Amino acid sequence: MLKTAMKVLDTITSHGYQAYIVGGFVRDYLLGIDTNDIDMNTDATPQELQKIFKEIDLTSEDYGTVVLTSNTIRFEITTFRKEIGSINNRRPIKIEYVDNLYDDLQRRDFTINTICMNQKQEIIDLLNGREDLEAKIIRTVGNAKTRFEEDSLRILRAIRFATSLGFNLSEDVQHAIFQTKHLLKNLSYQRKKEELDKIFAHSNVKRGIELLLEFNLDDDLELPKLREINNTDSLISVWSILDVLDKYPFNNGEKELIKKINKVLPLNNLDPKVLYEYGLYINSVAAAIKGIDKKTITQAYNNLIIQSRTDLDITSQDIMNLLKKPPGKYLSDIYSDIENKVLYQELENKKNKIEEYILEKY
Ligand code: ATP
Ligand code: MG
Repeated sequence: MLKTAMKVLDTITSHGYQAYIVGGFVRDYLLGIDTNDIDMNTDATPQELQKIFKEIDLTSEDYGTVVLTSNTIRFEITTFRKEIGSINNRRPIKIEYVDNLYDDLQRRDFTINTICMNQKQEIIDLLNGREDLEAKIIRTVGNAKTRFEEDSLRILRAIRFATSLGFNLSEDVQHAIFQTKHLLKNLSYQRKKEELDKIFAHSNVKRGIELLLEFNLDDDLELPKLREINNTDSLISVWSILDVLDKYPFNNGEKELIKKINKVLPLNNLDPKVLYEYGLYINSVAAAIKGIDKKTITQAYNNLIIQSRTDLDITSQDIMNLLKKPPGKYLSDIYSDIENKVLYQELENKKNKIEEYILEKY
């Protein structure tokens, strides 16, 4: 991967431009962490890059960033730029291309995200990012308050990096968070959720939540139940506890899971009917939230007489033959009745026993 990246840099520089790997990849590389996405920056404009790499599709250009795929690796290449002004503490009023690396680094969020690597794999560190990397400190490029006012997502990014890297926030950053955190209200729930997902999905999530609470961000993020999180086994259990389906955007899969988990939370997760109806996964998440261990739930689930309708020793055809009736709603009524009886062991899951019961009752 690094070899392919060096080739890309080589190609760009051989045309007389500057080009570097910048940001997360270099930071993680120096920390010995594997990463998959590589961001590059260059003084070549998107149009000039397209002359070098014909495969670049300029129609997907986004704020001076183009995507190049080489050897199946995806590179995001951004032209050196300056960001001017800020709208709604969220994004710049306009961007302007610049011709030097230093100016491009000035717009970046944290010093640890400004370290570059050139085509000879040499580290270029114009803003002393390495020093902060070694000291494990998240420090903004320039004044923290100003940088958070320009884009308040940086507050969450700071906490996300402190969480994922196990770093500390500089004094300046800590102070600025208190001064600017009210601006988080102006951000879209979508952008906030993307950062929160990264915090909640990380193995160091406990520290992430501690930090969010230390700055009382539960108010600003409208997460009133943040303090109640007692289980961080999965992203879905965290969001289920937070219970903010009405505010934050979730995909349909997430929505369905969160709704079901919250529905079984007040129920007895060892009850055969609850286990049968909601399945092992939903009940395990709910049980974990309540402090019931996974083994107990798994055992109870495995001990169910039936785990799905097809486990019943009778088919709809059998029932229709037995009652000499065409299909109809009565079938599902009979099914739920015998499911219940079998689950609670009031009826044996044996064809002849079930038939006997049906004939007697229906
Ligand atoms: P990772 O990819 O591991 O999440 P990253 O640092 O690469 O971390 P990206 O979101 O991929 O983060 O952004 C790439 C680089 O762009 C960052 O390293 C940083 O230099 C810059 N950047 C990203 N978001 C912002 C922002 N909101 N404000 C300023 N600079 C930013
Ligand atoms: Mg990245």
